[in-house]
Amino acid sequence: MSKHQTDWEERMEKYVTREDGHWLWKGTVRDGVTPVIFHEGRNWNLRRLIYERYNKRKVHGRVLVTCHLQNCIHPLHAEDRE
Ligand SMILES: [Zn+2]
Repeated sequence: MSKHQTDWEERMEKYVTREDGHWLWKGTVRDGVTPVIFHEGRNWNLRRLIYERYNKRKVHGRVLVTCHLQNCIHPLHAEDRE
């Protein structure tokens, strides 16, 4: 894994407000619930990207928010579940 920030991470910062330990997403949301970011020609599930980036492994199943703020994208406020 590169130690440099990827370009989606740089771009993400423009749409994130850090508040009370949460990372609140102000960018595009798909279907009213899924934060997405444009990268390499398409929209990606941002929660998934961040989760895999921080946990350094692939998501198993779905990524669920554990802090009850649906627009929070903090990698530690999420867990994956088959
Ligand atoms: Zn949170």
